[in-house]
Amino acid sequence: MTNNIPETINAILFDMDGVLYDSMKHHAATWIEAFKKYNINFPKEEAYLNEGSTGDFTIKKAIKQICNREATPEEINGIYEEKTRLMHLRPKADKIPGMQALMKRIRDTGKKIIVVTGSKQPILLERLHEDFGVHPDEVVSGYNVIHGKPHPEPYLMGLKKAGFAANEALVIENAPLGVESSVAAEIYTIAINTGPLDKKVLFDAGASEVFDKAKEVDEFLEKLL
Ligand code: MG
Repeated sequence: MTNNIPETINAILFDMDGVLYDSMKHHAATWIEAFKKYNINFPKEEAYLNEGSTGDFTIKKAIKQICNREATPEEINGIYEEKTRLMHLRPKADKIPGMQALMKRIRDTGKKIIVVTGSKQPILLERLHEDFGVHPDEVVSGYNVIHGKPHPEPYLMGLKKAGFAANEALVIENAPLGVESSVAAEIYTIAINTGPLDKKVLFDAGASEVFDKAKEVDEFLEKLL
């Protein structure tokens, strides 16, 4: 399922990890290390396949798949705490090239910008204002939702914050669960494939377009806005 292209776009909703920041390699490495502390071998690809969901979702799913049992509350809290601690030790994530300029151009057209992320990582959330001029009021994070992506709640909340309907918005995502969340919220969704997954995974999740670079997104949006 994909959604129709809006006649008028009034709001652009950006995902954060893998769209604004080249942070996924840090997430993947810290997931692997945090699980290792609990003697669980977390496969790297899972980090990319689960991207956009909450930490709880990733931990519960991995323990079910790998250990064939439910995660304990101690594991859910402990693994996420360890991951957060390790994230703070990682080098600062680079911005995805071209995204700062793209966001500025969108802002100059007067369109509303909202960032919708499942992340609870203060290290990145705090940088959004400094790097992209995104005010904390313009962010939906993992702290604000009950259900993470792929549930539509995060993007529905993003629309509410923007003050526009689904058919007046566009989402830029990079992860299959993020695309599913946005498509379920009935928003026209395009993807930028900044990770190691095949493009097909993003089309299968419901993305209407899949691009490799911010420049291609920029050219596509220029025609639309
Ligand atoms: Mg992402």
